[in-house]
Amino acid sequence: MEYEDFKKMYLDDLMVFYLGLELFGENGRDKIMQSTDEELNAAAGIKLDSLFTEKKIKGIAEAAKRFSEMKSVELLAYASRCGIQLEDKPIDEPEICPLCGGSLHYGAYEITDELRTQDWTCEECGATGKEAYRMIFDCHFHVRDPKGKLADR
Ligand SMILES: [Zn+2]
Repeated sequence: MEYEDFKKMYLDDLMVFYLGLELFGENGRDKIMQSTDEELNAAAGIKLDSLFTEKKIKGIAEAAKRFSEMKSVELLAYASRCGIQLEDKPIDEPEICPLCGGSLHYGAYEITDELRTQDWTCEECGATGKEAYRMIFDCHFHVRDPKGKLADR
């Protein structure tokens, strides 16, 4: 699946997206790959029965099937690009000392292709560490043509 299709599924109907993901998680790649559409619809129907229309259930089964055709790394990368957080929240909070909860004073930072890291010292307890931010491509902006004219895009 292309990222644009994945994003469309996510934006079109969040409920279908999440329930499809859940159905995929519960049944697993192999089982879904080996199931017929009817079997998959039935599995989704048993799970969701009274809550959804038949059309919705088919959509959820279809979503689960599409997820099962993706590589796990691809699924995670797409989810990340859509801004889906895989945990409820990160284990740590930025700008807060993981040992005492004090405020951090920042030092030197380093940027690689994928990561931005920054040294810190806790202003309360004196602990030191590094904070990491993942770099995720967002968009192109302020694009100018070769003549310097702002591109209409
Ligand atoms: Zn501290």
